[in-house]
Amino acid sequence: MSDGRTVVFYDKENKLDRAAKLFPGAERRFSPDAPKESELRSLSECTVVFMLENGKLRDAAENCRLLQNADVFVVPSGIGYTPDPIKIDCSKTRLNYVETEISRVCNLNCRGCCDFINLKVKEEPFYDFELFCRDISRLKELFWGIAQIRIMGGEPFLNPRVADYVEKARALFPDSDLRVVTNGLLLTKTPEETLKRIAAASCSLDISAYPPTWKQKKDISRLLDSLGVKYSFSVPMVVFFKNVLEKPVDDPAPAHRNCIFSHCHMLGNGRITPCSFAFCIYRFNRHFGTSYPETDFVDIHDPSADGRRIYERLSTPHEFCKYCGAGMTPILWKGRNAPADARREDWLIADTFLNTKVAPAIQGAARKSAVALRSKIRDKQD
Ligand code: SF4
Ligand code: SF4
Repeated sequence: MSDGRTVVFYDKENKLDRAAKLFPGAERRFSPDAPKESELRSLSECTVVFMLENGKLRDAAENCRLLQNADVFVVPSGIGYTPDPIKIDCSKTRLNYVETEISRVCNLNCRGCCDFINLKVKEEPFYDFELFCRDISRLKELFWGIAQIRIMGGEPFLNPRVADYVEKARALFPDSDLRVVTNGLLLTKTPEETLKRIAAASCSLDISAYPPTWKQKKDISRLLDSLGVKYSFSVPMVVFFKNVLEKPVDDPAPAHRNCIFSHCHMLGNGRITPCSFAFCIYRFNRHFGTSYPETDFVDIHDPSADGRRIYERLSTPHEFCKYCGAGMTPILWKGRNAPADARREDWLIADTFLNTKVAPAIQGAARKSAVALRSKIRDKQD
């Protein structure tokens, strides 16, 4: 319980007016980074508010774990909208990122799709909405928040209920930077009502700029601007990267250390996996008759599931990392491929000196700046 005192931590001067309006009479402390545990320990009787950049909130909340009596609120910035203060439970942790595949079909069927969507596998075309609600609600029980949620496919706009998934995710996670990832080609045929609902849920679109998308860029931009939908186009995507090995290596750590997808935790069918490759590899196995491991998941509905243990498990090297190259190799983008056109080589890295020695060294050296550049491109300003 609070003793009536409120302390607001803020990281930018331009947040002071809002802090004064939301918490009149509160003490305000400038804190460019997440405040340290030593500073927070003395505030166990206070209400504590973090008006910080989204990416700093997990550390701030972790440092609050000892404040068992305090009320803790967050007001994230950099998530594309400005939410009301959100009360959080610091006994739980926060996930950095979750993506989820609401459509298992795509209108583009790219060669070497990283979700293996262009392969022929018998499965339901969409993530059942009721199942999605059950799964994402369970995440809310396990974690106080998720910094970024990306609703993806396949092509998510093939799922006629795309706005329902967005609204559900937003209702449960007001702290999230919420996005739908799309190839953009169906947007001009999507009912305006759907796009308006997505905008009203403060969700933006990440549009992957494949060559056919690039051709429609002006029309897509005009439409989204007219409806008030926030969006960004990726850089033109003319190259994909392959990363699957024919045979495993002994140690999964080097690939995991070099990986730029290790944060891409994927939710689906009652499970969460460390990355989308670990989630989607079953399609490759079914199509080509291979036996890559399909065991890298956590059953989130297991009654003994614990958010902190899940976080640790998702953050460490896992079995499938032994089957990933520590250096990715490029393959030219090609769209509209029939399943019969798919070749194992569209995903597999050839066992050459260049691929197994030179590419890993380059990726290791460039990883940090590649990740920083990627988040810079994706980050939004309020
Ligand atoms: S657009 Fe291409 S890469 Fe994206 S899901 Fe569809 S097939 Fe895969
Ligand atoms: S399996 Fe491991 S190395 Fe491969 S993409 Fe996933 S996290 Fe990265």
